[in-house]
Amino acid sequence: MEKLTIPETLQKNITYHSEVCDRHTYIKAGQEIVKPIQKMVIDGELVCPRCELEQGDRKLQEATQKEYDEFLKQKKYNTFYNRSILADNTILAATLENYHVEHQEERKNKQTVMESISRLKNGQVFNLILQGNQGAGKSHLAYAALRELNESGLDVSCLFVNVESMMRLIKDSFNNKESRYTENYFVELMSEADYLALDDIGAETGAIGTDKIATDFVQRVLYAITTTRQDKSTLITTNLSSETLFRMYDKKLVSRLFRNPKFVVFKETKDKRMNNIPF
Ligand SMILES: [Zn+2]
Repeated sequence: MEKLTIPETLQKNITYHSEVCDRHTYIKAGQEIVKPIQKMVIDGELVCPRCELEQGDRKLQEATQKEYDEFLKQKKYNTFYNRSILADNTILAATLENYHVEHQEERKNKQTVMESISRLKNGQVFNLILQGNQGAGKSHLAYAALRELNESGLDVSCLFVNVESMMRLIKDSFNNKESRYTENYFVELMSEADYLALDDIGAETGAIGTDKIATDFVQRVLYAITTTRQDKSTLITTNLSSETLFRMYDKKLVSRLFRNPKFVVFKETKDKRMNNIPF
């Protein structure tokens, strides 16, 4: 038989020592009893083997916990990029820097959005309502605001949801049992997000409903979200006037969407997407 050689690094000089460690106890008949552990001298160092073991466990536990916390933080961060529902991908490029202001109204509104971002970062809870002409850049600003929050290093999740696209996905899931995009999926996702943007609210009703009154499931989804997000901030963009919104949706629902609001209204800004068309 070959002689087993122990690598030098594993060879430790271990001897028992007469000292005991009295930090370890067990319970017997309701009484805590000290179980003395004989200490050892390992490579010249006097240690309690039980203490060493427990410390090793704790270190391992801490390392595992740290890794898990990091995983959760990364998952939150990725929510914005992996779970957002966009009407079109051009919005992916939207930042505050590339929201160009030409007129007083745009300048003022961009300023309000930037101030709102600071307030949100400081933990204030309110709903930011961007209302006005189509193409004024409301979605751009809402997306850019979420990006800013997501990249702020805060441990938060952000989610941008184009309401019409979401409602189409939910509607498709009624007939497609394979689809992950169910009503429950979205309600849960939007409830959990720390910061949510509901993009172009009201547009889904003209596109999906047969008349201009929101269908049951649209109301149900929005109602569920406003219920679970009472202590969270939501950003909302819409082309519609409050009068139209109140006519289309349940009044209680609209009141909830506009709870504790900060309004950013575009009245003068022309459709920015038409800027490079000369007529
Ligand atoms: Zn010990």
